[in-house]
Amino acid sequence: MSPFQKVIIIGAGPAGLAAALLLQQRNHPPSTVYEASPSPTTLGGSISIPSNGLRLLDHLGIYSSLIKCASTGSKTILHGRHGEELGEIDLVAPSTEAQTGYGYMRVKRTDLVNMLLEKIKERSGIQVEWGKRVVSVQEDEDGVRVSFQDGTTDTSDLLLGCDGIHSAVRTTYVDPAAVPLYSGISTIFAFLSLKDLPETSTNMACTHVTFTEDGLFVVGPCTADGDTLFWFFSNEVAVPETNYESDREGWKEHRRTVVEGFNAKLLSILKDVRGDWGLILKNMARQTTAVNFYPIFRLPLGRQWYRGRCILLGDAGHVMPPHSGQGVSMALEDVFLLSRLLGPPTAALSDVFEKFVKVRRPRIEKFYKIAAENGNERRKSSSWVLWLREIFLWCVLSVFASLNLQRWRFGQKDLIYDIDQVEI
Ligand SMILES: Cc1cc2nc3c(=O)[nH]c(=O)nc-3n(C[C@H](O)[C@H](O)[C@H](O)COP(=O)(O)OP(=O)(O)OC[C@H]3O[C@@H](n4cnc5c(N)ncnc54)[C@H](O)[C@@H]3O)c2cc1C
Repeated sequence: MSPFQKVIIIGAGPAGLAAALLLQQRNHPPSTVYEASPSPTTLGGSISIPSNGLRLLDHLGIYSSLIKCASTGSKTILHGRHGEELGEIDLVAPSTEAQTGYGYMRVKRTDLVNMLLEKIKERSGIQVEWGKRVVSVQEDEDGVRVSFQDGTTDTSDLLLGCDGIHSAVRTTYVDPAAVPLYSGISTIFAFLSLKDLPETSTNMACTHVTFTEDGLFVVGPCTADGDTLFWFFSNEVAVPETNYESDREGWKEHRRTVVEGFNAKLLSILKDVRGDWGLILKNMARQTTAVNFYPIFRLPLGRQWYRGRCILLGDAGHVMPPHSGQGVSMALEDVFLLSRLLGPPTAALSDVFEKFVKVRRPRIEKFYKIAAENGNERRKSSSWVLWLREIFLWCVLSVFASLNLQRWRFGQKDLIYDIDQVEI
């Protein structure tokens, strides 16, 4: 029996839906998920999920169906600014896959969310309400009350704020002073059908990263049959001059300009990429008819994650730049840890939340740092700096490959990590 009469979960993204499923599976309280969008979103790019996150999707019961629609190739080929191959890396080493039983996946965000929703439909005790935007949260000794834009309210004895970067649970209650900061990097991304590209001899079954003086261009498959490619270009973009950082109107206007003029801009950025690879990239830029624009924000470290009966999970508490490819996996780990800590029915919520922060903080901070370091590769650099970086990478990748260092699982410890086994 759960000590909670009811759990309210705000946000039907990966964190919120995973929380609803896992609490039903392991802790058994009835729960209601409230989502601001009127229906499941058709927006979003593709996301990469390594073994630490895949294991958790398996525990939620969606891994085997998800793998049927995702790309699972973890090989990544790095290209220099003239298109030449610098070497390749495996994002999840074969030995990691052998040890954990999970490799790597790139999947459309819509596929991930739809599978979580499908699984929820199979379960009883979970309600999902669409078109319910939270506008305020209040709490007294009887419980926590959530108010929605449509004038309705609901109350519960546990509230999970899984409402992403602009979380209303955070800004109206848990930590209003925690304001997302612009990282200086923005991304444009698009899907492209492989059949829209002229036939190519290059292997498009793996991910390709190309360094340019302006930023990083990445392309790879995101479906199981490899028929859909996902590309993104990340680069330094100044805050729109006409408005200050927190002004969404300024970004909206900037987004409109970027989206309208992306073909010409991208072709100019890719002008130095030569040979077959250059032709392929330029064809991609020409064939793409629509892109999405995303300025990358992060929350400052060390902020408050809980208050009273409310706790923030996933991006709502710790949105970080996506350059470590761990956003979804961090949200899933949050959910699994919280469920474990809520296990003993007598556990006081304040103790549960305190332990949660103690376990999660160091790991989240570690990935923040990795994401920040990886973000530097997206910054503008002179051709000299880029040349030096390419030489350095070529040397490292050559040594790595010739000594087969991946068998020693360098940099793989964090992907083997199992939140269910962590000491609490
Ligand atoms: C360009 C880009 C690329 C990325 N690439 C990757 C990647 O490769 N791998 C990876 O793991 N992660 C990646 N991420 C990060 C990843 O998308 C997030 O970490 C992940 O979606 C977090 O899930 P979440 O459920 O916490 O938040 P979200 O996915 O943001 O979901 C929050 C939900 O809450 C809802 N909501 C918001 N406000 C309210 C409100 N007031 N009331 C009710 N509902 C509300 C929203 O509509 C949304 O459905 C990327 C992010 C970006 C921007």
